[in-house]
Amino acid sequence: MSETASVPALSKSCGDCGMCCKVLHISELEKPAGQWCGVFRKGSGCGDYEARPQACRGFHCLWLTSEKLDDAWRPNKAGFLMYPDRDGKRLNVVVDPGKPASWQREPYYSRLKAMSQRAYDGYELLICIGDRRVVMFPTEDVDLGVLNPDHKLVSGYVDKDGAQVPFAMVLSDVEAAEAS
Ligand code: SF4
Ligand code: SF4
Repeated sequence: MSETASVPALSKSCGDCGMCCKVLHISELEKPAGQWCGVFRKGSGCGDYEARPQACRGFHCLWLTSEKLDDAWRPNKAGFLMYPDRDGKRLNVVVDPGKPASWQREPYYSRLKAMSQRAYDGYELLICIGDRRVVMFPTEDVDLGVLNPDHKLVSGYVDKDGAQVPFAMVLSDVEAAEAS
C-alpha cells in the first residue's frame, strides 16, 4: 500500500466501502493484494480500527479526496479504487479481482481515457488487475500481462518515422538497478 498525503474531501467518507481492505497489499499485515483483510467486517468496516497499521491510517483513495469524482466512482460501486504515486506522475487503478472488467465499463472507461491524455507529459495511468498490468494511453491500452509486481515498468513515447508511438515495458533486474 502506498501512502497518499491528501485528506478526505468534506463531502466524502468511506462509509461501507472497504475496497482498499481487499485489493491492496498491506505489508505490515502480510495481507496479499486481492484478498479481504482478516479483520474487515462487512457492514461495520475495520474490526481492529484503533490498532490498524499506519499504512491503513495514511491511505486515502482518489475518490475520497476528490470533489470531482461523484458517487458512481465510489470504489465499491465502481469495482476499482485509484491512488496516485511517483509524486503524482502515476495513477494506479487497482481493480477488484472479482470484477476484472469493471474499468472497461462506462462511464469509467471514457473518463480514464481522458485522464490518460497526460501520458503525453510523462504521466502513467496503470491498470492493476491482480498481478496483470495494463498501461493506458489515449490511443491504445498496452496489456503487459501477468508480471512480478516487484519489477519496474517504464512507459512513454518513442519517435518512429516522425510519429510519437506509445510503449510500455518491464525492466529486467539489471536495467532496473542501472536506472535507480
Ligand atoms: S477504497 Fe477509498 S473510500 Fe473505500 S474504504 Fe478505502 S479509502 Fe475509503
Ligand atoms: S486493518 Fe482494518 S483498515 Fe487495515 S486493511 Fe484490515 S480491515 Fe482494512
